[in-house]
Amino acid sequence: MTLVTFIGTSGGRFATITQVRGTGGVYIEDHIRIHVDPGPGALVTMVKMGLDPRLTDVIVVSHGHPDHYGDADVLVEAMTEGGTRHRGILIGSRSVTEGMGNYWPIISRYHLSKPAQVKTARVGDKYFLDGLNVEVHPSKHTDESTVGFRFNTLSGTISYVSDTEYSEELAVRHKGARLLILPATRPLQGRIAGHMCTEDIAEFVKVAKPELAVMTHFGLKVLKSGPEREAQWVREKTGMNVVAAEDGMQVRIDGKVEVLGERKKASADFRPGSERIALPPLLEDREGKPGGTYQP
Ligand SMILES: [Zn+2]
Repeated sequence: MTLVTFIGTSGGRFATITQVRGTGGVYIEDHIRIHVDPGPGALVTMVKMGLDPRLTDVIVVSHGHPDHYGDADVLVEAMTEGGTRHRGILIGSRSVTEGMGNYWPIISRYHLSKPAQVKTARVGDKYFLDGLNVEVHPSKHTDESTVGFRFNTLSGTISYVSDTEYSEELAVRHKGARLLILPATRPLQGRIAGHMCTEDIAEFVKVAKPELAVMTHFGLKVLKSGPEREAQWVREKTGMNVVAAEDGMQVRIDGKVEVLGERKKASADFRPGSERIALPPLLEDREGKPGGTYQP
């Protein structure tokens, strides 16, 4: 069984600045715990939800925009026991871990030196984590190093499509996912370069055919229009199982993929770090090329 929690469901500059909804990213709990795109407010919100950031095993940052990396440094501190222990893995786009053009390394060099491993995610990379593997897929976005991911768990595949324009080729890459997470940054008739609008989401879903598609990363215009209204349009257009995420929403992937209610803090869920597992070494296969491990 795999549990996915939508810590925050907005994105784009103006939704982030106004915090109409949160920007804390997505949290995947399998036998390891993966935090994807921890934007501003991720730490505060996850603690309120009863998610212990010290138990995170892998932090993934898809690109160098603040709605995706805002809380990454402090969450690296949580994952590494305040920077006192080299543990956990940080996976980031080139802008995030190495710096590129105007994007200096988004994570500070101090924080890059703290996890047990730091990987620069390039299209085609695969990381193997003891029964869960992570594939890196392309995006077309203003940060040219932006990447998306497929997390292949024992419960099936979770596809995380980061900020991108739509292309059929990209949608084909995400076929076979049980849960497809899509950035619905722009509303109907609101297409702009580098992002997807609601019509693009419908095309994506028609091609990828997931068991469940979740629209998230709503820009301010989508929030004004109403995410549920946009999702309803996609459902009617495609006949597929599509929902609009809400802050705190959970999806359980097991025999079926089902939406659960809002995650609320249960004190029993917030344990000290005692149940942390020792991660196996991360293996990398990028067509035989060496990995992008950060050298402090
Ligand atoms: Zn972006």
